[in-house]
Amino acid sequence: MFEGKIIIFSAPSGAGKTTLVKYLLAHNSDLAFSVSATTRACRPGEVHGKDYYFISKEEFEKHIANHDFVEYEEVYAGTYYGTLKSEIERIWAQNKHVIIDADVKGGLNIKKQYKERALSVFVQPPNIQILEQRLRTRNTDSEESIRKRMEKAISEITFGEKFDVVILNDNLDKACAEAQAVYERFKNQSSQYAS
Ligand code: ADP
Ligand code: 5GP
Repeated sequence: MFEGKIIIFSAPSGAGKTTLVKYLLAHNSDLAFSVSATTRACRPGEVHGKDYYFISKEEFEKHIANHDFVEYEEVYAGTYYGTLKSEIERIWAQNKHVIIDADVKGGLNIKKQYKERALSVFVQPPNIQILEQRLRTRNTDSEESIRKRMEKAISEITFGEKFDVVILNDNLDKACAEAQAVYERFKNQSSQYAS
């Protein structure tokens, strides 16, 4: 019988987790993305229901009251992000494993709840200067948003040891190959990562 698992990617913003998550989704048809709910504005190119469910603060609060979230965080002051229980159920019902992109706190929280059914992966940027450079090159954030993200990154960059696996994202091809190897190992024998 199929036993659905969850692979969680966390990292300071700009480390490359979206890039690695997209790589895994493109190369593994047995994996599907858990679409989070957020109150942040949609960036150009993002699609409602694919990248995120872009909802109002009121709608988000309704989900909290209904206990619809596995976890949620005010990742940046005034901006909420949360993983919906219905996403995990939807994906497992398709006989697929779940891949989640969450901040460091949220990622550890999901791991704590799902234990050996989940693998927490931390994407480590080479250093804080390169992280800032990547955020600027991505060209999606205002100066204020970059400042907020860098402020948070300075504390998050040291969190790697709390995760099951750390992937250094220096050379992208190498990091993608490592992410693929980690995923294959986990889906075939998760017990080695049990808490
Ligand atoms: P995150 O999801 O962690 O915020 P992204 O995946 O959006 O990060 O990556 C941030 C930026 O850095 C993007 O423009 C991406 O193309 C780029 N990037 C990702 N990995 C690398 C890498 N190894 N080397 C150089 N640039 C990278
Ligand atoms: P971004 O605004 O760059 O898409 O994401 C900002 C941060 O929110 C990232 O660190 C991302 O991992 C995190 N995030 C996205 N979805 C969730 C979620 O469902 N829960 C939590 N806790 N964080 C999330």
